[in-house]
Amino acid sequence: MSIAQNIAEIKRNIDTTKVKLVAVTKNHSVSAMLEAIAAGITAVGENRVQEMLAKHPDIQAAGKQVEWHLIGHLQTNKVRQAVPLAALIHSVDSQRLAIEIDKTAGKLGKRQDVLLQVNVADEESKFGIELGQALVLAKQISQLEHVRLCGLMTIAPYTENAETVRPVFKEFYQLFSELKALNLTNTDIKWLSMGMTNDYMVAVEEGANLVRIGTGIFGSRQY
Ligand SMILES: *Cc1c(COP(=O)(O)O)cnc(C)c1O
Repeated sequence: MSIAQNIAEIKRNIDTTKVKLVAVTKNHSVSAMLEAIAAGITAVGENRVQEMLAKHPDIQAAGKQVEWHLIGHLQTNKVRQAVPLAALIHSVDSQRLAIEIDKTAGKLGKRQDVLLQVNVADEESKFGIELGQALVLAKQISQLEHVRLCGLMTIAPYTENAETVRPVFKEFYQLFSELKALNLTNTDIKWLSMGMTNDYMVAVEEGANLVRIGTGIFGSRQY
């Protein structure tokens, strides 16, 4: 199936007027990205700052406007390069990183929208703050003037059968509700970023309003 057909299928499966679809373009070419943009994609997700920086000028040169989401682990020494481009950084998982983003955004006169990445799977993924610490970190981030916390992101454990991760999504939605209920000043808690190719439909059923889909749009990645 073509990229456009894949996108059309996702749009049949979820209501993209209510759920934001971020096309994960890591390891895919600029021409594939342009195809996706032509088929209606308005936000792309990259894992690595370097790759985002490399592709950005080509997308600009093609005259295309798209939101760039940084979804991979961000090292503090890459913050200076990431902030000027990123519409939303999904992967904030420490106070130290948040402070670094705040400094850079302040210099640029920008408010940087971020999500808190939470590690719900503990064993499997290396990144993300643990569930029990998430609200503490959220409060710390809300103190930063040039950062705006906009919600939560997680990567569920990989599974062939998405039903097995439904409880993880349920628990994560619970945390999202608790975070909203805190009513922290200086925040705008609106995005629950969960769901990838294998599990996005279950994630949306459990309250995700932002899904990050790569393989389901572009096919498998060549490394
Ligand atoms: C690669 C990646 C995705 C997309 O994964 P697919 O299974 O290809 O849809 C989503 N989120 C993050 C953080 C990723 O690194």
